[in-house]
Amino acid sequence: MVQAKRDIRQLSVEEIQEFFVGIGDKAFRAKQVYEWLWKKSAKDFDQMSNISLTTRELLKEHFDINHIKVDQMQRSADGTIKNAVKLHDGMTVESVLIPTENRITACISSQVGCSLNCHFCATAKLKRMRNLNPDEIYDQVVAIKEEGELYFNRPLTNIVYMGMGEPLLNYQNVMESINKITSPEGLGMSPKRITLSTVGIPKMIVRMADEDVKFNLAVSLHSAIDETRSKMMPINEKTDLNELAESLNYWYQKTKRKVTFEYVVWKDINDDEHHALALAKYCGKVASKVNIIEYNPIDDGQFQQADPASLDMYKRILESKNIIVNVRRSRGKDIDAACGQLANKL
Ligand code: SAH
Repeated sequence: MVQAKRDIRQLSVEEIQEFFVGIGDKAFRAKQVYEWLWKKSAKDFDQMSNISLTTRELLKEHFDINHIKVDQMQRSADGTIKNAVKLHDGMTVESVLIPTENRITACISSQVGCSLNCHFCATAKLKRMRNLNPDEIYDQVVAIKEEGELYFNRPLTNIVYMGMGEPLLNYQNVMESINKITSPEGLGMSPKRITLSTVGIPKMIVRMADEDVKFNLAVSLHSAIDETRSKMMPINEKTDLNELAESLNYWYQKTKRKVTFEYVVWKDINDDEHHALALAKYCGKVASKVNIIEYNPIDDGQFQQADPASLDMYKRILESKNIIVNVRRSRGKDIDAACGQLANKL
């Protein structure tokens, strides 16, 4: 019987070293191979030009290199690129390249589907199938980095974990992917350029703070009133806004970095002064800034983007309390690449 080969990228450099020592080869080969696998993103052992042919054959006998495959690429009129990414087991996730004047941002997925069921989000319509491995997350970044170089002639500047899935429910793999993205053996990017976006799971936020992570944190808030938030985001019934605030204060105390609240204003849901004042009050309790993001309709008509006047009202109220607020226009709308739409047409 043919033995299933192992995916070599699931191995640490030490484990690859053990393999080489085991076959009587030099330990330093491991470092060379590891560099090919991560820094140079080799998709095939034959690319490893400083490794002898015999060793390459031996590696091929024992291991596979499982890579994601960009199955389909769509470009939006505003330059946004959406990749449908095929995983080695045939499942699909999506990632997005967002070009702006100063940035090329990769928006990447952390799970196939999602278990959280936020009512306004398209990914919620898919059940959670599985977590992505660190290499599957890393590869999405590499694919977008290459597209940025190819189509825009510009380097990748930022990474946001805002695609499909809840990164804090795939904690270990997400942290490992960030380690690889930031390490000199990987992409060598600064963690300051990375933002992890979460629905807000207090005990995981505390854990990240304790582990002294260096990236930025964004929390999808959408309402600072428990009753409203629970209606849209079932997670809020388990851990309420108070508990969330406590964990975020702990985060700030440890990291000295403000959290960014992501906030959509919907017609007749949270577009009144009462909700805006509650947000201002919440921001007064937690060191934070606010990104007001545009709603991307997901076809069931239950949620509608608020009028510009409501957004102005939010801006005025927050600014009057010296809270930093950005109102963001959505991108890639014509290709369903905007937040929450990734799953819509799969
Ligand atoms: N699970 C993580 C990351 C994925 S969602 C999180 O909740 O943060 C990324 C962002 O898109 C979140 O702020 C989410 O609330 C927002 N979002 C989801 N559906 C949306 C939609 N239809 N329109 C606009 N933003 C949406």
